[in-house]
Amino acid sequence: MTSSLMTTYASLPVAFERGEGVWLFDENGNKYLDAVGGIAVCSLGHAHPEIANAISEQSRRLIHTSNLYQIPLQQKLADKLTTLANMERVFFGNSGAEANEAALKIARLFGHQHNIDNPTIIVTENSFHGRTLATLSATGNKKIQAGFEPLVSGFVRVPYNDISAIENLANKNPNIVAILLEPIQGEGGVNLPNKGYLDGIRKICNEQNWLMMLDEIQTGIGRTGKWFAHMHSNSKPDVMTLAKALGNGFPIGACLVRDKASNILQPGTHGSTYGGNPLACAAALAVLNTFEKTDLISDSAKQGTKLLQTLKTELKSIAGIKDIRGLGLIIGIELNRPCAKLVQMALDENLLINVTAGNIIRLLPPLIISDEQIIQLSTTLKKIINAFYAKDIK
Ligand SMILES: *Cc1c(COP(=O)(O)O)cnc(C)c1O
Repeated sequence: MTSSLMTTYASLPVAFERGEGVWLFDENGNKYLDAVGGIAVCSLGHAHPEIANAISEQSRRLIHTSNLYQIPLQQKLADKLTTLANMERVFFGNSGAEANEAALKIARLFGHQHNIDNPTIIVTENSFHGRTLATLSATGNKKIQAGFEPLVSGFVRVPYNDISAIENLANKNPNIVAILLEPIQGEGGVNLPNKGYLDGIRKICNEQNWLMMLDEIQTGIGRTGKWFAHMHSNSKPDVMTLAKALGNGFPIGACLVRDKASNILQPGTHGSTYGGNPLACAAALAVLNTFEKTDLISDSAKQGTKLLQTLKTELKSIAGIKDIRGLGLIIGIELNRPCAKLVQMALDENLLINVTAGNIIRLLPPLIISDEQIIQLSTTLKKIINAFYAKDIK
């Protein structure tokens, strides 16, 4: 079938009409358990009344003015977010890729300020940082880069979870100014850092005067059971990027900085027409206020542990499962073969799941998921994974 849309997405044959908490309803009124959450976006669930109210009230007052003028709501959001994150300053854009673009530009300016003419940024294998030219160049996935050469230069790549590879570069490459990585790799397959990995990176960054830049676009805002995933370590980044759950679905991205990274951007060096407009800031403020007023972050830790345990018990007998891992409510189930087919099989059972990196089921449910829904999710997964292996024996 030809479509007037560019064929960027291989969308599933379903369209949703409305949502409520962890549930989505299709055009025929069928109800689905959403264990994807709009890809780690709708952490408070769908159609959250306080977010809906904030957006609707603000849209009737003022949607947009541009950054030619002061935006008090932007200042208010900046104050709140930097306090929560222990950072000093923030720049607002409209997406994750834009937040990372700001981080990459900050790293380059930082390098030039230190008389490094060819500033180079360390990135990791299997990373995902976005689809713009610079962020796809930083991304550690050949499929995402293929066809878009020449890539943006100024990146060197190391394996994830390998401190000695970073130490080697420190001794060899005088152009390095920063390292950019995810505290848990999401698209790359829910790859968790080894104990001490982030602290090791912090130590090298301190010794080398590099910026430690964490992409918390998927892991931030409560997903892992803490406000930000790096809070499971003893180390703080110099630059941190956010998006996804920050607006619960309203597009907003943020690049936060502190210490030696906090004064690098100056008037004229960066900008965005929409970035931090009153409507986006009202939405994000309502999200943060809701998190602060509730126990959602500790719930996400608690429900995440429950879901992980339940999955380990339920799926124990399935020989093809290689690993079940996660932190809070980002969970990966690694199979011994490509399993993209499971997405449609789950859909047939009124369950939404994601498969990433070919053979890893990724679960990113809204953080409000209940005990009963955890059981429903695990039981349905068991059913479809068993059916998958029964059919797929050859
Ligand atoms: C989703 C994601 C991005 C890109 O965000 P967009 O809003 O799609 O541009 C970047 N980094 C990570 C870790 C992500 O999960």
